[in-house]
Amino acid sequence: MVKQMPEKLVVYPGTFDPVTFGHLDVIERAQKLFGRVLVAVATKPGKKPLFSVRERASLLADCTKAMPNVGVDSFSGLLVDYVKRKKVGVVLRGLRALSDFENEFQQATINRKLSPEFETIFVVTNPKYFYLNSSVVKEIASMNGKVDCFVPGSVERALRKKFSKRPGSI
Ligand code: ADP
Repeated sequence: MVKQMPEKLVVYPGTFDPVTFGHLDVIERAQKLFGRVLVAVATKPGKKPLFSVRERASLLADCTKAMPNVGVDSFSGLLVDYVKRKKVGVVLRGLRALSDFENEFQQATINRKLSPEFETIFVVTNPKYFYLNSSVVKEIASMNGKVDCFVPGSVERALRKKFSKRPGSI
């Protein structure tokens, strides 16, 4: 007999600079797997993102507005402290290629050391999006290329606006 399982909340943290169809695919799948998803936009000041945290969160909110069980938030500081504050035990990350694994494995292990109850779950990328990341989208957009097959319309418009103000830079 299959028992009805309680819905779980998972945190999906990232820079999302900007959100792509690859991220949205992970969010949709996470919703099916866990029930509720909290997408947490990291400040990451060292990374010098193109979009501010507010802009990144607002684009994510727009792209997930049709998903009732998905919320968007932002955080600064350590992820382990954020998930403790939110009382969430599981964090989700995506794996695209072998090259992602080393860094993700290190982060998951360090987070476990900082907080023993911290659990990271990985989803393997949809083969449709294994090549896709935010950097390549920004690079194409900065050179006035079409990015509609990589990001939703609102993100495409935001990229166009950004680069019309600062041509040639990523
Ligand atoms: P980071 O959080 O490492 O700065 P991102 O914000 O781009 O990078 O990504 C957030 C998470 O989404 C990471 O776990 C990343 O591996 C995953 N991700 C990014 N792009 C894709 C994709 N195309 N398919 C699956 N997962 C992805």
